[in-house]
Amino acid sequence: MAHKTILEGTNPRLRSTSRPVRKINQHILDVLDDMGQTMYEERGVGLAAPQIGVFRRIVVLDVGDGIMELINPVIVSQEGQQREKEGCLSFGDERGYVLRPEKIVVRALDRNGQEKEYVGTGLLARVLAHEIDHLDGVLFVDKVVEWVEDEPADEAE
Ligand code: ZN
Repeated sequence: MAHKTILEGTNPRLRSTSRPVRKINQHILDVLDDMGQTMYEERGVGLAAPQIGVFRRIVVLDVGDGIMELINPVIVSQEGQQREKEGCLSFGDERGYVLRPEKIVVRALDRNGQEKEYVGTGLLARVLAHEIDHLDGVLFVDKVVEWVEDEPADEAE
């Protein structure tokens, strides 16, 4: 495993659309390991592969229940709305309120190639939506409805 440098928010590469993973080979497993290590060392709750310069549809996250690894995640359904503070590992201490679905259902492959369905509410719904946005080059700053001033960082995606 290796710690990877996280691309900063102003980097135009973060606007790229990431490609699906066709085959879960050793390279993809290494990417997953690097992403997990980098997320934990940066004290984030989520990380998308393009944030470390790998433009594949892979995200990792941990909202307190252990690591979740999602390959080719697809949003199956979403409902409701939440308005919460959000940050991003690519944007340092910047924080702002973003509207996200209150509940989201996502289908993805795990590292063994098994298809799994994840139902997220609250924080998990928010992080899933945030990370999947990264795969399409969408950043949370695009969606901020109100910026937060002078408040210490608590979590970042
Ligand atoms: Zn982010």
